[in-house]
Amino acid sequence: MPGDTGSMRETASVRAATGDLELAADGRTLRFPAGWLRDNCPCPLCLDPVTGQRLHDITDIPEDCAVATTSDEPEHIVVTFAPDGHSSRFSRAWLTGHALDGYGDSDPRADGKQLWRKADLDGRIPEGDWRAYLENPGYRADRLRDVMRKGFVMLRDVPVAAGTVLTVARTFGYVRETNYGALFDVRVEPAPENLAFTSSEITPHTDNPYRDPVPTVQLLHCLRSAGPGDVGAGGESGLVDGFMAAAILRDEDPEAFAVVTGTMCSFGYTDNGTELRACQPLIHLDPRGRVRGIRFNNRSALPLRAPYDEVLAFYAGYRRWAALLRRDELRVEFTLKPGDCLIFDNTRVLHARTAFTATEPRHLQGCYADLDGLESTVAVLSREPRSWTAR
Ligand SMILES: [Zn+2]
Repeated sequence: MPGDTGSMRETASVRAATGDLELAADGRTLRFPAGWLRDNCPCPLCLDPVTGQRLHDITDIPEDCAVATTSDEPEHIVVTFAPDGHSSRFSRAWLTGHALDGYGDSDPRADGKQLWRKADLDGRIPEGDWRAYLENPGYRADRLRDVMRKGFVMLRDVPVAAGTVLTVARTFGYVRETNYGALFDVRVEPAPENLAFTSSEITPHTDNPYRDPVPTVQLLHCLRSAGPGDVGAGGESGLVDGFMAAAILRDEDPEAFAVVTGTMCSFGYTDNGTELRACQPLIHLDPRGRVRGIRFNNRSALPLRAPYDEVLAFYAGYRRWAALLRRDELRVEFTLKPGDCLIFDNTRVLHARTAFTATEPRHLQGCYADLDGLESTVAVLSREPRSWTAR
């Protein structure tokens, strides 16, 4: 641009045929449909200046809305819309930051998830110290970010006192109370209502698939371990990254992946006062085909109801998926020691434990919470000063 030796300056123009805004920026042309642009108008008539919330509804915007004129300002583009003459002033930074052209070309994992196999963790699970977690907000944000990126984090030296698991959950969100109570005890019980409360092996699973919505975060706090604390003594915990496993299944056996993602499976839980049912695919995809959630639990799966041929196809895929989830190369194992508190994404990470002898009674306390609260906490802890706008 002649005479402009400073930062790249974008030039706005109207695309006559469609009435869209076009912005020449950085050697590219960014196109903004008039209806989209008008819906995102930041003026005080369109966006409440106090809450930052939108005041209009899409039906309030003229259907034949088009960009009529544009004018360039140093930091803004002023747009006038036909047919009603509404005027909007968009910052250049906002427009380029919300460009539509090129969106979606990026890696589907661009939301920051780091998928892992056992070897990728290199013998070091993401962990943190409870005291530092409490005292340092930046450190706390980083540990919680591990749950978002890797699916879990282990907090060490959490006080070995009953009920503390609720304190941990409340550092980042709200406890999700269920029929098991605000918290549940995982230990050997004489008349267990759930196989978790025995000393048997529990294969990789997600919790509570019979709820809709499922609790998206689970915490497990160790009050007493099963053995001397060495791997091999029994009662080891194992974790599997279900998103990594799903990527492997998609790659190795697309047919199995298709039936596992395309079949609605029912799960149930029944006890004296509870009758829970939920029906969802074992691997949940978003409309772009990206893996959004894993639901897997052989203990609470109900008989599959589907046409005969679909059941046959499903069982082949189901077997492949279950076998894959049990591969050693995917599973990281460790023994929970008293004071350890594991926080994990129950929509992504499957957990398991080996059998143990009941001579030294293992005792964990667990509770549920949700990822939206955890992510909100991370976002607030990571805020630039004074960046708040409600929406
Ligand atoms: Zn407006």
